[in-house]
Amino acid sequence: MRTPVIAGNWKMYKTADEAAAFVREFSPLVGDAAGVEIVLAPAFPSLAAVASLTRGTNVRVASQNVHFAEEGAYTGEVSPRMVRDTGAACAIVGHSERRQSFSETDDMVNRKVRAVLGAGLIPILCLGETLAERESGKTIEVVDRQLRAGLADVPASAAGKVLVAYEPVWAIGTGKTATPAQAQEVHAFLRATLKKIWGDEAGNSVRILYGGSVKPENIADLMSREDIDGALVGGASLSAASFAKIVKYR
Ligand code: PEP
Repeated sequence: MRTPVIAGNWKMYKTADEAAAFVREFSPLVGDAAGVEIVLAPAFPSLAAVASLTRGTNVRVASQNVHFAEEGAYTGEVSPRMVRDTGAACAIVGHSERRQSFSETDDMVNRKVRAVLGAGLIPILCLGETLAERESGKTIEVVDRQLRAGLADVPASAAGKVLVAYEPVWAIGTGKTATPAQAQEVHAFLRATLKKIWGDEAGNSVRILYGGSVKPENIADLMSREDIDGALVGGASLSAASFAKIVKYR
């Protein structure tokens, strides 16, 4: 009942020419992929090129970050309206690399989620615990706080327009994937929390993606779990062939 979403986060890789070359190779590989939503998140300078090359296809485009203000004296920042104007449909918000390296707080993440929705874009709200938090038994406490704070003042009517990505920090870019059972345990908790926040129907409709060293070899097992509705893929989304295999995991 929840259409799977497979999203690729290219981080600070690929120039606009390289991004365009990826799309030319990737589009024919996934043109016949049915029953799955595909998202590509290039760096800001490539958003317009990728959005233009994928227009009218089954691929949607996301920014990797966004500012929460509509406009203003924020040198170096990009507003949700500017992202939408490139032709992008989504924006990643609160990625752990933003939280860790750029000091993004839960409050900033929440303001970004609301600004993204306000601009008519789909936020991909990222959350997840560090290794130290997992090892000290705080995983559930951390993701509960991040989810509730990230969605503060977001109404249940937005449920269909929000994607949540559970990305344990210790699994990002490390080659260490959470086991499907570990991921499902957290996803089930997030689903239960979403139902508490927004009610059963809205909570059940939210797609919860898993992220952290997803590869062609582990995607099917992850996707077989009840509350895993997709994947946010970093490293393995940089190659068209490997990302196409992930999209066509079935
Ligand atoms: C990510 O950047 O969101 C990510 C999950 O990276 P990787 O797949 O490389 O672990």
